[in-house]
Amino acid sequence: MAYVIPAPSIPALPVAGSADLFPVRRVYCVGRNYAAHAREMGGDPTREPPFFFMKPADALQPVVEGETAEHSYPPKTGNYHYEIEMVVALARGGKDIPVGQALDHVFGYAVGLDMTRRDLQDEAKQLRRPWELGKAADYSGPVGPIHPVSQVGHPAGGSISLSVDSATKQKADLSDMIWSVAEQIAYLSQYFELAPGDVIFSGTPDGVGAVTQGQTMVGAIERLGEIRLRVV
Ligand code: MN
Repeated sequence: MAYVIPAPSIPALPVAGSADLFPVRRVYCVGRNYAAHAREMGGDPTREPPFFFMKPADALQPVVEGETAEHSYPPKTGNYHYEIEMVVALARGGKDIPVGQALDHVFGYAVGLDMTRRDLQDEAKQLRRPWELGKAADYSGPVGPIHPVSQVGHPAGGSISLSVDSATKQKADLSDMIWSVAEQIAYLSQYFELAPGDVIFSGTPDGVGAVTQGQTMVGAIERLGEIRLRVV
């Protein structure tokens, strides 16, 4: 049997220090996982259960470290925001994963951006509609190379930052997360059967804001390097 149309390719991310690729199945994103960002978005930073949304796997934009990638400004927005986030790539899946075993499921970590058409997201919130127009734009998930756990361990602290045209816009510490990576995996696995190839955007600190064409964003996380993108 043959496919009746050409089969879409499997989205994949480069693995740091190797020619190998990490194939992506699903992309989960956690919202409001840093107290100061929850406050700036009008939310309550108390430890309510985390909430999640998804991006399409083919919305990821693999970014090579050491190069300036071109990032396309998407249509239908006048308020396109950066959100620097640590991305978690899973090597193993499962259901009802205990917090104490959750990190055993991680393949590695990367620097990512949860790019957001904030005007469309705000409108969706107001109208109580889903967030896809705001969050799932094509190329809205730039991600750098994945650093395997065997090389970087499980970063639970360290600087996470984003600059635009060399001005620092976001700067926080991974230890500021309200829900740890292990807790995110455990929680998600109660609702979905996780699988190898799933990735999780673990939330952004405060300082989100808009970029325009011609500006250059640099996202960096201690031990995970940096990604550099020019908005075109
Ligand atoms: Mn986000």
